[in-house]
Amino acid sequence: MSQKRKARRARTATANKGRSTGSREDAAARVHLKVFRDPASGREGVTLAKPIFQEAWQNEIATAAANTAHGVLQGTATLQRTVKLARSAMAATSRLADGLLARAPAGAVACKDGCDHCCYQSVGVTPPEAFAIADHLRQTLSEGEFANVASHIASCHQRTHGLTAEERFSPEYPCPFLHAGSCSIYEVRPLSCRGMNSLDAGECRARLREPDKRAAFVESGAGGHSFMEPIRGFHAVSAGVQLALAELYGLDMRPLELTAAMQLLLNEPGALVGEWLGGKRSLEAARGGDSSDSPDIRELTGTLGAGKHASS
Ligand code: SF4
Repeated sequence: MSQKRKARRARTATANKGRSTGSREDAAARVHLKVFRDPASGREGVTLAKPIFQEAWQNEIATAAANTAHGVLQGTATLQRTVKLARSAMAATSRLADGLLARAPAGAVACKDGCDHCCYQSVGVTPPEAFAIADHLRQTLSEGEFANVASHIASCHQRTHGLTAEERFSPEYPCPFLHAGSCSIYEVRPLSCRGMNSLDAGECRARLREPDKRAAFVESGAGGHSFMEPIRGFHAVSAGVQLALAELYGLDMRPLELTAAMQLLLNEPGALVGEWLGGKRSLEAARGGDSSDSPDIRELTGTLGAGKHASS
């Protein structure tokens, strides 16, 4: 690493201990947020340095999410605060998606209970989402149940580790949290799962279950017939959280792959999380689920290309 880069990393790491008005770079030397102090209230806030999404409402949501993140972390990132933040982002994404879905034409959205075709793929999560899921499992499961879940995750991880997103999209590789057609962590399911809503369940089934259609779908790189606004909404929430934690707190907010993240966090959580909170890239082994560089995904999510955030 160059001296210049080291100096940048040191600056962002110290951001976790307090901040002042101005702007900061993320680990890739990009600046998306500006910090300001409201003269009337004296409170600190953040705003986007420039739009990161095509649509104004997405930029407003990203800004709101970044301010919420800054408010919840209160100047210092702790595990408890990052879990609280993830829970807040999850609730906000669901409220947003529900509001958008309520405006869809009656019967247009095809998703319903027991329909699980979208749960057979690599799922992207931010580290706070992964912490919230691990925390939920620890809080709600008995010792025996937790051991069973950890064992199931390990077995799934062994089968899927190293597969590309294209290879992972297969009926052979259900999400480890999919049980009898339902999500077993529904309360804390990732933001991406909250944003996906299909307009054609038959298409979802065919492109997953029929090998020729699956191959054509993977080859095309395009999305299916989905309700776009909730997808764009979840990306806006996620982007705001990611930018705030990366630029204001110097944290590694690059997306993780859900199964790999759980494999890490259910087995050796303490040291890894502590290092991550200290600005280290301790979750590197779970990196994945990030397709935000793809032009097709940028079009789908309405991203202008300046932001980089979790995708599924
Ligand atoms: S977390 Fe739940 S909703 Fe998301 S892919 Fe897994 S089973 Fe499906």
